[in-house]
Amino acid sequence: MFRSRIKCGMCLRKMEGAARREDTIYYRCNSRTLEPGSATALARPPQIYLREDLVTPAVNRWIASLFDPMHRDETVTRHLEADDSVERDLTRIEQLPDRVVAAKVAM
Ligand SMILES: [Zn+2]
Repeated sequence: MFRSRIKCGMCLRKMEGAARREDTIYYRCNSRTLEPGSATALARPPQIYLREDLVTPAVNRWIASLFDPMHRDETVTRHLEADDSVERDLTRIEQLPDRVVAAKVAM
C-alpha cells in the first residue's frame, strides 16, 4: 500500500516492502545496502522493520481529516491548484477558432 512512500527515519532511504508472514506486510530498511563501516551503518541495527498494519490506521485518520468540514475547502483548493488540466483545457478552447480558420484556409 505504501510502496516507495515510506522512508527510514535513521538513514532517510526508501524502505522496501516485505511479507514476513502470510497476512502481515512489513517495510524494511536493510543495513546490507549501506556503505560498510559508514557512520550510518554503524549507528543502527542490521534490520529495521515497520509493520504496515500499525501505520495504516494513522494514515487513514489523516486522510479522513483532510475531508472533514474544517479542512474540506482547503483540501479542494490545494487539489485544484495542483491540477493544471483546467488551464490546459481553457488554452485549447481559446485556440480552437485559430485552428478552425487554419483548417478552412488549408481546404
Ligand atoms: Zn535506514
